Amino acid sequence: MPDDFPQRLIACSHCDLPMEVPALEQRQAACCPRCGAVVAKRFRGGWRRVAAFATISLVALFIALGFSYLSLSGGAGDSSASVVGVAWAMILERPLLGSLVGLFFVGVPALQCVAIFGLSVAFLRGQPSLRWRHVAALIERLGPWCMADVFLVGTLVSLIKIASLAEVTFGASFWGFVFFVVYLVAAYSSLDTKRVISDLHRNAD
Ligand SMILES: [Zn+2]
Repeated sequence: MPDDFPQRLIACSHCDLPMEVPALEQRQAACCPRCGAVVAKRFRGGWRRVAAFATISLVALFIALGFSYLSLSGGAGDSSASVVGVAWAMILERPLLGSLVGLFFVGVPALQCVAIFGLSVAFLRGQPSLRWRHVAALIERLGPWCMADVFLVGTLVSLIKIASLAEVTFGASFWGFVFFVVYLVAAYSSLDTKRVISDLHRNAD
């Protein structure tokens, strides 16, 4: 961004038209006058909603990491697996693949969840400093690398085959992971990071 670009202006992500977005009421969205794309939106509940979703997501993550993910029982005996156990076993067997699985399926989503929670608490406590723009930018950058939902869908697809060979029981960790993914997506979707960065610059002026 050039130095003479006024900080309260934002550029349309579709056609690059710079524009100043007015203050929005809850459940209002601002659209680009040139291409009609949504450039800013404000959800009902504001930061309380984001903080609540991020808190539920964090609690669910602790449950997902601390309990058994699923158990299998069949002719070969019983066995159970946890998310951490599977990731660790993969790291020992295939260090690169295991590290990438742990990073993109758990590490990056967890970091994004903590960043969203921190940002929402900072706004709820009052006027946060301009430094929080780095956290907002980080949340946006991590978006494409969060693959916790892919892990969940991958598990379900592979279980369709396993279910014919053994009895599958989902543990608390599985349901924790479902809640973690759903509420993380809800928190991220309730956040307009471009708008947040614009607000931080406005507060700093
Ligand atoms: Zn546009």
